[in-house]
Amino acid sequence: MRSIEALTFDNTYSRLPDTFHQRVQPKPFENPWLVHFNEAAGNLLDLDPAEARRPDFLDFITGRKAIPGSDPLAMLYAGHQFGSYVPQLGDGRAILLGEVRSPLKGLYNGHLNLVTDKWDLHLKGAGKTAFSRFGDGRAVLRSSVREYLCSEAMHGLGIPTTRALCLIGSDEPVFRETPEPGAMILRMAPCHVRFGSFEVFYYRDQVDHLRSLADYVIAQHYPEFAGVAPKDKYYRWFKEVVRRTGQLMAEWQAVGFCHGVMNTDNFSILGITMDYGPFGFLDDFDPGHICNHTDQSGFYAYDQQPRIGHFNLQALGQALSPLMTPDQVTGALGDYEPALATHFLDLLGAKHGFRIQSPTDEEIFRDTFEVLRGTDMTNFFRGLNSFSTAPGADNAPLRDLVVNLPAYDAWAKRYAARLTGEGSKDTERKARMDRVNPKFVLRNHLAQRAIDAAHQRDTSEIETLMRILRNPFAEHPGLERYAEPPPAELKKIVVSCSS
Ligand code: AMP
Ligand code: MG
Repeated sequence: MRSIEALTFDNTYSRLPDTFHQRVQPKPFENPWLVHFNEAAGNLLDLDPAEARRPDFLDFITGRKAIPGSDPLAMLYAGHQFGSYVPQLGDGRAILLGEVRSPLKGLYNGHLNLVTDKWDLHLKGAGKTAFSRFGDGRAVLRSSVREYLCSEAMHGLGIPTTRALCLIGSDEPVFRETPEPGAMILRMAPCHVRFGSFEVFYYRDQVDHLRSLADYVIAQHYPEFAGVAPKDKYYRWFKEVVRRTGQLMAEWQAVGFCHGVMNTDNFSILGITMDYGPFGFLDDFDPGHICNHTDQSGFYAYDQQPRIGHFNLQALGQALSPLMTPDQVTGALGDYEPALATHFLDLLGAKHGFRIQSPTDEEIFRDTFEVLRGTDMTNFFRGLNSFSTAPGADNAPLRDLVVNLPAYDAWAKRYAARLTGEGSKDTERKARMDRVNPKFVLRNHLAQRAIDAAHQRDTSEIETLMRILRNPFAEHPGLERYAEPPPAELKKIVVSCSS
């Protein structure tokens, strides 16, 4: 395993023309302290975990000392925010320190099983850049703990996501509504290019840059299309981005994940979840749930996410239109709905424990979501794993979770008949479903408890949550309280864009 100085960098993004980025050094903050080091992420870099205990580890991470071979820069992008185009965004508080080549290949893409040996080290909260606009370039501990935990939680759920190597706190106050402790989080992904990275060149009429960026992303991350003739290359690649994004939306919906700020600048060209802000997992199922307090109209409500995924791909398709025929753009976008729907039905089939698909399943799924209204989504599906098809079984533990009992009773009869119809065996099915329906998700109240403790420099809650969320399908005996829905007074924790 390697020391920090022995990491090998291959800074492909910094070799792109200067228009794509601004070279900038991170601005260290006072008295940094290591909140958490993620050994699993370090393994992806072949980084020795003992490095985190070096006295100068934080100097390297927070920019007091340059990591040999790094070449820090802020990336340029634009984006559609809440439906409107904003021509100038860019990394206003995150800095790409460099791209590490690892001797190992590591999984980055959950269900898609894609692997990489190249990881961006992307430091969020690293100080002002040319793209900071009115911001201070900083991040607060509160939102950094949330991002740190959620990226690990999503990975544990098998959902494509950025990862995070470590979380660093500081005494330096950062002013939001009130002064709060600052933090930096060192994120990792094979690349941090967003839909908005393309939009900026389209709207500036810089088609050469647009093409260079597309060729770059294809060469680096979609090599299967690199040799295709230009008249089909961008089309086939865009189709793949459409497919991955559709599947990602299905994954979010299936676990009740609400992103909160689905702007095109927060949408990855790799089809992975990125830029965690005021996200939330559904507790009681409510299709119109709005997790972001700032989003009063519900623009990014849970049930809007599939539509917004399409809107964002349309915006990307528009940006890429100089590289394709209009028919190719329309054709590729036409793949979105089927990719999402097919994957969602597969996921729901697995969540219900069905081995064989049946044409009537969609009706059962629709009924499930009716029965779910007002009931804790995660616990309901986890409870479903133990559903008994034995004649006369009352399935009381599951039924007791439900609010709408008449709907449940009719549904349960039908569900039992459907299972019996395919010869389902309760124990075999439970074993399968236990690997599909998680016991634990990162509920807001759990994140909040970890934040409150971290403010007192107590990292034990973060430690525990990392252990649980890394493997959310295991039982974790003794830690049942982490699977409980929030107590009534914590149901409405307010999270907003302020971070
Ligand atoms: P977000 O809503 O976090 O995805 O950020 C949207 C845009 O605002 C991005 O260009 C960010 O880099 C920028 N931004 C957010 N917070 C800050 C901050 N505190 N300082 C500078 N730029 C910021
Ligand atoms: Mg963002």
